[in-house]
Amino acid sequence: MNPIIIIGSGLAGYNTAKELRKLDTITPLIIIGGDSSPFYSKPMLSNALASKKTSESIALNTPEQMATQLNATVRAHTAVDAIDTTAHTLLIGDETLAYSKLVLALGADQIRLAMDGNATGSILTVNDLDDYASFRTTIAGKKRVAIIGAGLIGCEFANDLASSGYGVDIIDIAQQALGRLLPPEGGALLQAKLAALGVQWHLGTSVQAVDRTENGYAVTLANGNVLRVDVVLSAVGLKPRTTLAATAGIQVNRGIVANRHLETSAPDVYTLGDCAEIEGLVMPYVMPIMHATRALAQTLAGKRTAVSFPAMPVMVKTPACPTIVSPPATGSEGTWQVEATADGVKSLFVAADGKLLGFALNGSATAERAKLAPQLPPVLN
Ligand SMILES: Cc1cc2nc3c(=O)[nH]c(=O)nc-3n(C[C@H](O)[C@H](O)[C@H](O)COP(=O)(O)OP(=O)(O)OC[C@H]3O[C@@H](n4cnc5c(N)ncnc54)[C@H](O)[C@@H]3O)c2cc1C
Repeated sequence: MNPIIIIGSGLAGYNTAKELRKLDTITPLIIIGGDSSPFYSKPMLSNALASKKTSESIALNTPEQMATQLNATVRAHTAVDAIDTTAHTLLIGDETLAYSKLVLALGADQIRLAMDGNATGSILTVNDLDDYASFRTTIAGKKRVAIIGAGLIGCEFANDLASSGYGVDIIDIAQQALGRLLPPEGGALLQAKLAALGVQWHLGTSVQAVDRTENGYAVTLANGNVLRVDVVLSAVGLKPRTTLAATAGIQVNRGIVANRHLETSAPDVYTLGDCAEIEGLVMPYVMPIMHATRALAQTLAGKRTAVSFPAMPVMVKTPACPTIVSPPATGSEGTWQVEATADGVKSLFVAADGKLLGFALNGSATAERAKLAPQLPPVLN
């Protein structure tokens, strides 16, 4: 019997394998990763510095340990070049591998903005443990970091770096931090708390150029300011990896298109995680992955199962200003109702009929999460 093959050794790939092995211990299983394929929790990458964790201590298991644990073959540093969905095969260089079922858990790429300057190639991104190891090597002994992007990942790195003694400049075209997730009052509190740690905000402007100087980099902003820093880190968003699927003729849109059974347009090919667009939803977070892996494992084991997603609030790892967000679904009709105190902001997104559709809680208001979360509508019922 041909094996089940999972392309991707991130949380989506490995957790699918773990869930599958609870139901089926014997079907041959191959997991292929383009990176070094350790098992680790990616969210730790943006708060590991202050907790003094290194890339070595973040890795929970080596690929060899995962292979033993999962009764699987794990192939690290192996890029899949093409998929033939008719023949049920995939191509790695000159090698052809046949699959019975194929899971695409390919993740997403960090978006890189086009900008001028002679040092754009030195701008770092952190999207896996290998990147994190390079990041830690690069910042060692350095003093000042510019972060491009004040979204979730940018703000988390800003908190982690600032509380570890680094000077931080953070730049975003939006007028506030976490502009897609927080109303202005919540953004203002987060900014104030991070500013108190020493973070310098450059909002409503963008980076025009990054140039090498004698001692580091000059980051030229559209507002004319020039920042002198030692390291530049970009965190401006993620783009689902769709090329492999699209080239194979599998339907893609923003992500690899899947129905709620996680089936793509090709027979026996499934998708989940950061690369996937499930019933129109791209959800690059851990909780959707955990729900999807459990449903997909059932399907792979022979019981076709649909996924449901409850509301899945996301904790932003900014200890200077604890923040929990559960944004309303795109296109939701409603208004933000905001209550601000000295140390917290409670923002509720409420429909005309009074139903709670989303929330953003900062500081002391995060204590209300347990009460509010059950009132939220499911993301996909
Ligand atoms: C710094 C950071 C902090 C985060 N914090 C949080 C948080 O606090 N809470 C939260 O919910 N989410 C957080 N996230 C998001 C969360 O970590 C991701 O949603 C999740 O880890 C994605 O897992 P994945 O398996 O889909 O993708 P990935 O972990 O990116 O794995 C993709 C895998 O596919 C492989 N691959 C891709 N193409 C090929 C190919 N052609 N051939 C072979 N292999 C291939 C890659 O090598 C990799 O092994 C954070 C993300 C980052 C970057």
